[in-house]
Amino acid sequence: MFRTILLAYDGSDHAKRAAEVAKAEAQAHGARLLVVHAYEPVPDYLGEPFFEEALKRRLERAERILAEARALTGVPKEDALLLEGAPAQAILEAARGEKADLIVMGTRGLGALGSLFLGSQSQRVVAEAPCPVLLVR
Ligand code: ATP
Ligand code: MG
Repeated sequence: MFRTILLAYDGSDHAKRAAEVAKAEAQAHGARLLVVHAYEPVPDYLGEPFFEEALKRRLERAERILAEARALTGVPKEDALLLEGAPAQAILEAARGEKADLIVMGTRGLGALGSLFLGSQSQRVVAEAPCPVLLVR
């Protein structure tokens, strides 16, 4: 039923569990699994050399997180996408662009507000997704 499954990964414990579920679902359906991680753009008002330094660090961190997602799921490099932008928006664009049939993500992420039952990115994706969304606890 699912041909393309998109995993949104931010390195949190919830996302790690989502990675396991996404991998198992992809295997069960014989689907292509895509993993994406979005990093927020660095504001250019920082100016040089702070802008370059901040961007470099942000990219390195994002690449580490994406590599971790690949290690957990075993997806090849070409199916691991680094996205720039607000996470929910970037995830939704990737899901549309890649014609994903299913998005898998955590209910919560790295955010510190433990009292909310759903993170803001999950909430936005669920509200606007073009396909079913599987939220993993
Ligand atoms: P908030 O960000 O609102 O403080 P939170 O961090 O607890 O709350 P979300 O950010 O909504 O919750 O995270 C829920 C899930 O969304 C994560 O488990 C992960 O699957 C996905 N996600 C969050 N941020 C990103 C990101 N930058 N790139 C890819 N996926 C992400
Ligand atoms: Mg978050």
